[in-house]
Amino acid sequence: MKHYRYLIIGGGMTAAAALEGIREIDADGSIGLLTADTHPPYDRPPLSKKLWKDDITPAQIMRKIPERVDLHLARTAQTLDLAAKQVTDDHGEVYSYKKLLLATGSTPRKLPFGDGHIIYFRTLDDYQRLRTLAETQNKFVVIGGGFIGSEIAAALAMQGKQVTMLFPERGICHRIFPPEIVSYLNQYYRDKGVEMLAEENVNGVVGSGQYLTVLTERGRQIKANGVVAGIGVQPNVALATAAGLTVDKGVVVNRMLQTSHADVYAAGDVANFYDSVLGVQRRVEHEDNANQMGKAAGRAMAGDTTPYDYSPMFYSDLFDLGYEAVGEISSRLETVIDWQEPYQTGVIYYLKDQRVRGVLLWNVWGQVEAARDLIAAGQMVTPQALAGRIV
Ligand code: NAP
Repeated sequence: MKHYRYLIIGGGMTAAAALEGIREIDADGSIGLLTADTHPPYDRPPLSKKLWKDDITPAQIMRKIPERVDLHLARTAQTLDLAAKQVTDDHGEVYSYKKLLLATGSTPRKLPFGDGHIIYFRTLDDYQRLRTLAETQNKFVVIGGGFIGSEIAAALAMQGKQVTMLFPERGICHRIFPPEIVSYLNQYYRDKGVEMLAEENVNGVVGSGQYLTVLTERGRQIKANGVVAGIGVQPNVALATAAGLTVDKGVVVNRMLQTSHADVYAAGDVANFYDSVLGVQRRVEHEDNANQMGKAAGRAMAGDTTPYDYSPMFYSDLFDLGYEAVGEISSRLETVIDWQEPYQTGVIYYLKDQRVRGVLLWNVWGQVEAARDLIAAGQMVTPQALAGRIV
């Protein structure tokens, strides 16, 4: 049996940030990290953005691992025994701990067909598989119009590939953007050469190797050399649930990022935490959340008593457009758009009960803190009063 003062389950950005957090406080305590990935922790956003645009290599996205950390790669935690403070992996290896972090992240949702043919884009291996394919092949179908779909379709199109995007909703990221921006983006992607099939479902993917056909509900047959999908993710809560920890859409944590068992912490995609700016419990699946909460959890495990007090931001790049956002970004809320230049630069405010709950900065940079302050203020506002508020 291996014994660690700190044991981390998961090897994503949350885990990497937790290693930093622990070492900020405890220079020597033993640390073990178990990850199903075959690679040590790396930054995930470049997989669908920078690695396709800039002249960088996968070696440059690897996270710096502090001294004296045992990485157990290609290992999955199978059971967690809270009473014995032990974790058993899929090789039957047992690890005991003083403090445990669940940074188990999430797993892509899958379609009930096309096994092995569809790249559910999430890991470095997925990036390498698609990149290798794109070196020799030309025609790609991207299923899903959310974050992965919109970023990967843009990345492939910028490589000169013929891309068809296909999704059940009316347009790109319809859950976050107001309808006029969704329409603008659909046309923007078309202008960039992407074939957009909105309100279209996939019924099957047949063929083999680089000769695939995507079958749609409306009877279209689209030939492709590669099929990529980003149709959402599900938090990996199975280990926590089986161990008897409190789980409610995610592993529930308190302000110290402790689960219902005081020596077990959770952070990142899998954690249902209290967002002090919004004043609600929620789960967030973005980089900033992983980095900030991961680091705070590491520090808390090593004895820091500062409560976690942060509302994460997220960002995206879509061809030449880019944005940053903070708070509750949902197209179900009332929205007020304050353009400086229509569809090029502006700020979108998301309101509930006449209070700003979210802010999306469309090609407006360096204003995330101002946006967070506006949300935290919680004051009643009118659309007129928001004009020019953040520029
Ligand atoms: P996502 O953003 O939730 O988008 C999933 C999309 O797939 C939605 O548009 C959804 O439509 C659609 N969909 C659902 N079922 C489908 C089906 N059967 N066929 C076709 N489309 C279907 O998830 P994602 O793009 O897969 O991204 C995965 C995770 O990575 C997310 O948690 C995301 O936040 C994260 N990520 C973040 C960034 C960033 O912060 N910039 C970038 C990449 C990934 P409905 O909306 O109608 O359900």
